[in-house]
Amino acid sequence: RSNFAYDTDRLVQEDQTHILHPWGDLGEPASRNPMIIAEAEGVYVYNSDGHRMLDGIGGLWCVNIGYGREEMVQAIADQVRKLPYCSNFGITATPKSIEFGTRLAGYTPGDLKRVLFTTGGSTAVDSALRFVQFYFNSTGRPNKKHIITRNYAYHGSTYLSASVSGKPGDRGNLDFVTDTVHHLPVPDPYRRPEGMTEEEFCDLKVADLENKILELGPENVGCFIAEPLLASGGVIVPPAGYQKRTRDVCSKYHVLYISDEVVTGFGRLGEIFASEPVFEIVPDIITSAKGLTSGYIPLGAVFISERLYGEVSGEAARGKQFANGFTYSGHPVACAAGLKNLDIIESENILGHVRDLGNYFIESLSKLEELPIVGIVRGSHLVACVECVADKKTKEPVPASFDIGNRIGVHARARGLMVRPMGHLAVLSPPLIVTREQIDTIVEIMEQAINAAV
Ligand code: PLP
Repeated sequence: RSNFAYDTDRLVQEDQTHILHPWGDLGEPASRNPMIIAEAEGVYVYNSDGHRMLDGIGGLWCVNIGYGREEMVQAIADQVRKLPYCSNFGITATPKSIEFGTRLAGYTPGDLKRVLFTTGGSTAVDSALRFVQFYFNSTGRPNKKHIITRNYAYHGSTYLSASVSGKPGDRGNLDFVTDTVHHLPVPDPYRRPEGMTEEEFCDLKVADLENKILELGPENVGCFIAEPLLASGGVIVPPAGYQKRTRDVCSKYHVLYISDEVVTGFGRLGEIFASEPVFEIVPDIITSAKGLTSGYIPLGAVFISERLYGEVSGEAARGKQFANGFTYSGHPVACAAGLKNLDIIESENILGHVRDLGNYFIESLSKLEELPIVGIVRGSHLVACVECVADKKTKEPVPASFDIGNRIGVHARARGLMVRPMGHLAVLSPPLIVTREQIDTIVEIMEQAINAAV
């Protein structure tokens, strides 16, 4: 490794002077010294002083193949040398964007064979929602404007993708599209009414969707957007069968189903796309980003069904332009990275590795539920969340003033583990190459960090 000749104090000071961080708390920029992450290798990141930490959050749920992949560096460098940029607008395309789109279409469920590249997850969600508008406007159903989503969803940070998100803490001091966006209660089995079985809870949550569609009038509802599991909202795994049954409700009322797989795709749940193999649904549209390139270069993608595409293309659509796209949509260097990412996932059988290890990860972490402050450990495969409660019976979250997530984060980092604190939650989504021994280390450090934090 390098000799870590970084001037940490100067970097911190300049960061605080000039950088406005995403989700920054502008009231206390000075008290939250940013951690300067300078280098990385495998599942480990190093801060600017050379302190090594196992990256328990995989960057931001994205560095699926791990850091420092030489073949990735080579693929990116080769493409930069050959063609660093070319737009994907109408008249031009590149070998890499075509090759990548074609290869991805081999993995998508059903007839979702049409790929629209974007720049990341938010722009994928935004573009998917705009495609829904375009689809209904172009096919003579302009009233189908309403979008149904859920509380605690996270779909991005553009105006529209933020509007369909539903984390309560993200909604202060900003404006949102409200007239056409409707939030359903979160399908969180942990907080289902007392005495209710998970099956009954599923009935209730499916009924929430159907009732909302009927209340708005099916002729006015364009789509339902849902993450297969609500990742940023706290890794909330809906009750068994929920995805399939909500998909059926959407089909019944001709409401399009968008499955937001920005987190769940590219191996996190042991599949390239989890929708069909894990949750038994073929959505109308899938959105993707993050693991699509393992975070090496930003890229997003929307996968659209041929049926929908067919209805708004061809002779009947002449002159109707889908005026949506970004300078960096389908960036050739990002697509080259995406192709290499797929090579690595396939050649190392990373999907099989996640399927083998997923249960072990969740089961090992579940031991933390024995700690007095841990209400529940939930998750699936290589994504999990530890929820801290003030009272295990009432499930009352630990008060925000106690800052438990950050406290756990600080103690975990000191012991060599990065976790993602979110209020009273601590989230884990390590690179998918994590080993059984490294999982043991994660659990051990989490236990120590929680005990030290309370
Ligand atoms: N959708 C989901 C499910 C996400 O988790 C995220 C980001 O965390 C996004 C969309 C937005 O992606 P991006 O941050 O790349 O714009």
